[in-house]
Amino acid sequence: MSDTSSLISTLPLPNDADDAEGAVSSIGGPAPAAGSAINLYARPSADFDAKLADTVALLKAAAAEHPDQVVQATSLGVEDMILTDLIAKHRLPIAIGTLETGMLHAETSALIPTIESHYAAEGLKVEVYHPQAEAVIEFVRHNGDKAMYKSIDLRKGCCGIRKIEPLGRMLANRTGWITGLRREQSNNRGGMLAREQDDKGRAKFNPLIEWTWGDVWHYVQAHKVPYNPLHDQFMPSIGCAPCTRAIAVGEDFRAGRWWWEDESAKECGLHVHQPDEPVAEELPPLVSSIESKN
Ligand code: SF4
Repeated sequence: MSDTSSLISTLPLPNDADDAEGAVSSIGGPAPAAGSAINLYARPSADFDAKLADTVALLKAAAAEHPDQVVQATSLGVEDMILTDLIAKHRLPIAIGTLETGMLHAETSALIPTIESHYAAEGLKVEVYHPQAEAVIEFVRHNGDKAMYKSIDLRKGCCGIRKIEPLGRMLANRTGWITGLRREQSNNRGGMLAREQDDKGRAKFNPLIEWTWGDVWHYVQAHKVPYNPLHDQFMPSIGCAPCTRAIAVGEDFRAGRWWWEDESAKECGLHVHQPDEPVAEELPPLVSSIESKN
């Protein structure tokens, strides 16, 4: 594997927070207080316009190549909010789907109705996929509600039930999906490309792969994109509440995700390319046995 560490950015030093004019709050209201992510980070790359054009072109290609069979799998993070904004504004025939794991922060869950109201004119609807209740109950009964902290296998088991299995339903009968992955987010993502194939042979599009953190917040500011207010609390990567913490300046973007684990283990299985291994086999035995009962 090539060394991608040089591609990875840590949480950058803030901009001078001296120009909030035209900025919007995380819920589309008045200008944010100094310290908001927009004020701190909005700083486009020199080639931002070209990157944006490439992103739009790739979204259009995904829609054209997979008519009615492509979905944006949104984590509701700021990158995905940008993709949703582009899909809505260009009226692209791309479905929007998200995983409501049952463990999200209230601020994250609240974005689902926010998206639908913000893009009501475009008629945008969000498909919401929940975990299977029986599997969750069984897992918690056997392992407790803090199982994710006990071992990597149990953490991946929880992700398997709450994320991977519902994602499988989201992607069933679809030939393509779209993510908000960026190359600089982590070492694990450093080698990813704008176009990939997942372990089931579906097309996987990563239209923001080249975007920087400054590009992201520049777009949010310029286009008044609604976003999770937790990003204003130094949470650049937001997952489930028990598995997300704020990070400090200089820490990796994903340092606040599963922070008790080694860096190499920090993926939930949604974006790990393992062509020879079906997703079900990634799950620990307990999860597989639960799924086999359903
Ligand atoms: S991120 Fe944490 S709470 Fe969410 S599914 Fe994974 S282990 Fe469970």
